[in-house]
Amino acid sequence: MSRFFSKTHASLTPYTPGEQPKDRKYIKLNTNESPYPPSDLVRQRVASECGRLMLYPDPDCSVLREKLSEKLGVDKEEIVVTNGSDEILNFAFLAFSDSQHPVVFPDLTYGFYSVFAQLYNLPYEEIPLDENFNIRVEDYIGINKNIFIPNPNAPTGITLPLSDIERIVASNPNSVVVIDEAYVAFGAESAVRLIDKYDNLIVTHTFSKSRSMAGGRLGFGVGNRGLMRDINTLRYSTNPYNINRLTMEAGIAVLDSDSYYLENCEKIIATREKTAEELKKMGFEVLDSKANFLFAKSDKISGSELYEKLRRHGILVRHFEKPRIKEFNRITVGTENEMNTLVSVISEILKER
Ligand code: PMP
Repeated sequence: MSRFFSKTHASLTPYTPGEQPKDRKYIKLNTNESPYPPSDLVRQRVASECGRLMLYPDPDCSVLREKLSEKLGVDKEEIVVTNGSDEILNFAFLAFSDSQHPVVFPDLTYGFYSVFAQLYNLPYEEIPLDENFNIRVEDYIGINKNIFIPNPNAPTGITLPLSDIERIVASNPNSVVVIDEAYVAFGAESAVRLIDKYDNLIVTHTFSKSRSMAGGRLGFGVGNRGLMRDINTLRYSTNPYNINRLTMEAGIAVLDSDSYYLENCEKIIATREKTAEELKKMGFEVLDSKANFLFAKSDKISGSELYEKLRRHGILVRHFEKPRIKEFNRITVGTENEMNTLVSVISEILKER
């Protein structure tokens, strides 16, 4: 820390992104990226957009929002487009919480939430998951605090039914509820259709996972116009050009290649189920994931040993040190071939012991 760094941030522990290794080629199953490349249409449109890079992008993201509004059946004014969904989450923490409006989220969840809460010095509470890693809905009923819940949750992959999400939103009419649907395309029910019924609901989505665009950084939030206006006030007060031309064009092309991405999601879901079965056959406990990753542990090998050994075999997964989940690894679902390799390498590792 330099002597100039504001004391306000002195104790901040920043988010640690999953590793992007450079030492060798890995089967990369550590950051929940899609194993499938962007569609040909995305490549073509991005290539031709390069010639217009001397011009600023449209700060209103009009065409992209128009297309999203058609797909989602919501009004254009109910959508804000951001630089990854991390940015809409950042704005949602900044916009609606303060010392009078505390924030809550599950204790095992996306690690960025607690970083945002600390960054803005917000009073926050982490509500424990139950013994089976489920969100206990009753803990959020009428809590009268701003709420952030991923559905499916990360790193567990476990979902809540829409009826439970609705109970949480309906019982907290004076607080903002943010449902982070980063992984919704892999089997959860979206809450987007509730946004016209509840003026306190924001649903966030990303192009990073099901739309093969983690490197392009594109996400968005959907919610009541008033909430979206507030978010836009912050967006226009920080970076109105938060979506660059290439990303915007790629996003539009993604929406024009829907069937390609739906097929990829179906492949990922089928591979997830098959891999879960294989892991269970080897004695792993595998949580019931509706995301593009599996969260698994084995009594035969510790979480950290499996992580290290897989790494030595050229397979990268994600291991968390938090005591309650340190025996688990989070394994992104790759291609069928990659997952076959994973299963046979794990089987070798277990035999060697
Ligand atoms: N929410 C959850 C639950 C996530 O796991 C992630 C990805 N790490 C994000 C949001 C943010 O993803 P992105 O900024 O790439 O849209």
